[in-house]
Amino acid sequence: MSATDSSAPSNFIRHIIATDLANHKNQGKVATRFPPEPNGYLHIGHAKSICLNFTLAIENQGTCNLRFDDTNPEKESIEYMESIERDVLWLGFTWAAKYHASDYFEQLYDYAIQLIKQGDAYVDSSSPEQIRADRGTLTEPGKESPDRQRSIAENLDLFTRMRAGEFADGAYVLRAKIDMTSPNVNMRDPTIYRIRRVHHQRTGNDWCLYPMYDYTHCISDALEGITHSICTLEFEDHRPLYDWVLDKLQTPCHPQQIEFARLQLEYTIVSKRKLLQLVTEKHVNGWSDPRMPTISGLRRAGFTPEAIRNFCERIGVTKKDSWIEMGVLENCIRENLNEHAPRAMAVLKPLRVVISNWETDKTETYQIANHPQKPELGSREVTFSNTIFIEQDDFAENPPKDFKRLTTGSEVRLRGSYVIKCDEVIKDAEGNVIALHCSYDPATLGKNPEGRKVKGVIHWVSAAHSFTAELRLYDRLFSHPNPDTLDNFLDGLNPNSLEILSDCRLEASLATATPDTRYQFERTGYFCVDSEDSTPEKPVFNRTVTLRDSWVK
Ligand code: ATP
Ligand code: MG
Repeated sequence: MSATDSSAPSNFIRHIIATDLANHKNQGKVATRFPPEPNGYLHIGHAKSICLNFTLAIENQGTCNLRFDDTNPEKESIEYMESIERDVLWLGFTWAAKYHASDYFEQLYDYAIQLIKQGDAYVDSSSPEQIRADRGTLTEPGKESPDRQRSIAENLDLFTRMRAGEFADGAYVLRAKIDMTSPNVNMRDPTIYRIRRVHHQRTGNDWCLYPMYDYTHCISDALEGITHSICTLEFEDHRPLYDWVLDKLQTPCHPQQIEFARLQLEYTIVSKRKLLQLVTEKHVNGWSDPRMPTISGLRRAGFTPEAIRNFCERIGVTKKDSWIEMGVLENCIRENLNEHAPRAMAVLKPLRVVISNWETDKTETYQIANHPQKPELGSREVTFSNTIFIEQDDFAENPPKDFKRLTTGSEVRLRGSYVIKCDEVIKDAEGNVIALHCSYDPATLGKNPEGRKVKGVIHWVSAAHSFTAELRLYDRLFSHPNPDTLDNFLDGLNPNSLEILSDCRLEASLATATPDTRYQFERTGYFCVDSEDSTPEKPVFNRTVTLRDSWVK
């Protein structure tokens, strides 16, 4: 599979697996899984986990499953599941098998019966508030519930009736019977089942009883024969519970849970809950808004799967929390597009230029290479005519020192074409420059003029051989590097994260551009067609990233 790079640096999880293989643990098998909860779209943090799990499997001729952790039906949906599948495939990975925690509801129930029969679980009628109050704190032990001593027979009877729907939501829970004095709060008789009458996207109304995450996760791993269950650091304190459940149940396989530090990325948010808030409160235009750190947002912005995989390799895998600079992600896509994206010319803020010594109806067509270093990317036709557009910024009537572009009486080279000289500036009644009259030097096509230097080269398009398009210039969604540290993360939003330019002029060859081709618009940035809003009548392009990092401190 192409999605790996064998020269990638090692990490502690690779070492653990290598040791396990050397010791013939798990019969020399490696089985991992990526277990998202379908309660939102995947983000760049998930990409780290996806790359890690799938790559470890691929490197060791193992398998990686996709498993939907769908035990919270209120927050989950089929739409989210479909988006997750699309994103994993797009990143370049194929799961060995696809499962849902809900596939195991019956087995999970049977295992709960087993725990009850062993005296390892009990039905508690305490209210959720009471259970919370009795849980104790980090410094104080918890208090045992009076129901802890309920007989096995009575527990079995109550639990069966909980399933049968005889009790109201919240009337009872099933708890693991572990140790209310454990220094690890997670081991203080955690709830493993609760009554909740809610429609499930896959099992409909079959169940009014849903298992809790910690209980479900380890058993799902075991049922799938997962060898290495990789999760983020916040689950470290849950590992004793993971092991307790599997030990008590004597499942045929006991996966090893390994924790790593989650990705934290500056100038953005990687929490589905907060991303959902951005969507529902319309701070962005949906989950796939190109400013979103979601996989679908990055894709729509023009990111490539290679760039994201590269990023995940580059940031590495450790056990220590750290912040990654946004520039690292941006550089990955910049390098990727610099190498692969064909070049094209687009004028963002057009200024009309009439070439006075060029015959009105005459045109001249050039072949311009699509990539300066990659002849295999071919060339395209670019036509020159009597009226062209250049950037307003490439002309200055009163230029600053060292201005190398066009000024009154000075010369500039048009990329791939002639040297022109500005003879006259045309202004409107208010004194705004609305056009230039220039003359071209016929001796300068593809060569330097004799006896003088022309330093500047600017991009341009022919008025008759270009079309109008909307360009969306995206910037970082947050202007605060760590919005998560603010009382309200919304206060860190960048008010200028989107600038829309609706009268840009693009060279004719771009009329057939499709969303999966990314371009370098010379001198202005990397762009691609917007996959959702672009139409032949009104083409829309998104800026993926600027040519250079403009956020350098
Ligand atoms: P969120 O807080 O955004 O909802 P989550 O951890 O609850 O994240 P899940 O859908 O449960 O989201 O995650 C699926 C997998 O992706 C888990 O194994 C989780 O550890 C991993 N994951 C989630 N966020 C990150 C992150 N920022 N960096 C690395 N891995 C992550
Ligand atoms: Mg989660």
